[in-house]
Amino acid sequence: MPPIDLAFDRDHLWHPYTSTSRPLPTYPVARADGVYIELENGRRLIDGMSSWWAAIHGYNHPRLNQAAADQLQRMAHVMFGGLTHEPAVELGKRLVRLTPEPLQKVFLADSGSVSVEVAIKMALQFWLSQGKPEKHRLVALRNGYHGDTFGAMATCDPVNGMHHLFSRVLPAHLFAEAPRTGFHEDWDERDLDSLRELLEGHGDEVAAVILEPVVQGAGGMRLYHPEYLRGARRLCDQHGVLLIFDEIATGFGRSGKLFALEHAGVCPDILCLGKAITGGYMTLAATLCTDRVAAGICEGEAGVLMHGPTFMGNPLACAVANASIDLLLDSPWQSRVAAIQAQLERELAPCRESSRVADVRVLGAIGVVELKQPCDVGEVQRELVEQGVWIRPFGRLVYIMPPFIIEPEQLSALTGAIVAITADA
Ligand SMILES: *Cc1c(COP(=O)(O)O)cnc(C)c1O
Repeated sequence: MPPIDLAFDRDHLWHPYTSTSRPLPTYPVARADGVYIELENGRRLIDGMSSWWAAIHGYNHPRLNQAAADQLQRMAHVMFGGLTHEPAVELGKRLVRLTPEPLQKVFLADSGSVSVEVAIKMALQFWLSQGKPEKHRLVALRNGYHGDTFGAMATCDPVNGMHHLFSRVLPAHLFAEAPRTGFHEDWDERDLDSLRELLEGHGDEVAAVILEPVVQGAGGMRLYHPEYLRGARRLCDQHGVLLIFDEIATGFGRSGKLFALEHAGVCPDILCLGKAITGGYMTLAATLCTDRVAAGICEGEAGVLMHGPTFMGNPLACAVANASIDLLLDSPWQSRVAAIQAQLERELAPCRESSRVADVRVLGAIGVVELKQPCDVGEVQRELVEQGVWIRPFGRLVYIMPPFIIEPEQLSALTGAIVAITADA
């Protein structure tokens, strides 16, 4: 194979959240297999990121490869308007079966952000249909992250999401303080004060509360107490507001439960899934809702849910999603994730000794070391690659969410690298 043209990459390709004037280095990947990402120069890196929560089974998995190859022989894609197919129906069955019973209707979307757009649209259309057009605002949590498209971005943390840049076009939503009680701490009822005040003051204009259950991901990697979800459900019911859970990052086992909502036993009105849904093979997401929400939407003026992307229900992605979900459920994922959690707790604990570290947090197969000062991502990344691991820090956060198949020695290589780069100089 000819070498990867890095000069072209640097001069022409945007990477996530990058400058074309001052590009950061990118590392050329030749292949990936199991927990290893292999660079073009032959260096093998142990993957700590699961390609942003997605590759839970590792890379190049024979069962997922087979599912993609088999589906490719039948059809890569057909439009979903007026047509249907086995991969979509089978995926729908799995999602309805695995999520809480009231969630019965499934919209297959093409990315996490789109699934959030659909969730927001569902909530808005629901209240329009109920003759309550004034219920058009959302309540989101500070430190939340729900995606990069405009509707989703408007619900992200206003500071992290730089809302001031886009203030002329973004809808002005309401933001509750993020829950402060950590997942493992004693619940403090006052965490709900801010949400309660917002709903008491603005309930009449609020369509829905949107939040990431238990794990706030890209907006700060915070792990909060599940009791918050029970309180949020109660408050939404009291004030006639829908509840949207964004489990795009947490879904499919990452937090130690199949879905993070299970930590609280709470069912939302609308649920977004994505990221790990295809085991990291291709882009796919889903928005589920209750029969009540679906019926409400469809009795309105439009009579239909006003959404339908070109690649909706892509058969190839659905087929791999089905294989990935079956692979997960056939595996001892719960004990694997529990073992990863125990090892992360043990092996990241020494980070607490460093004067540079503000906090260490672990839940399921998620380990987070929060620094007091932002790190130089380019420089830290270079050192980590030298150490043979793929970990991508951002700002003050050095964190990992490895594939569930990772072996203890491989995980130790990741935690060892984190301990080393966060240690006192
Ligand atoms: C990644 C993420 C999204 C956006 O998903 P994309 O597939 O990147 O559009 C939304 N919400 C949460 C919680 C996420 O982690």
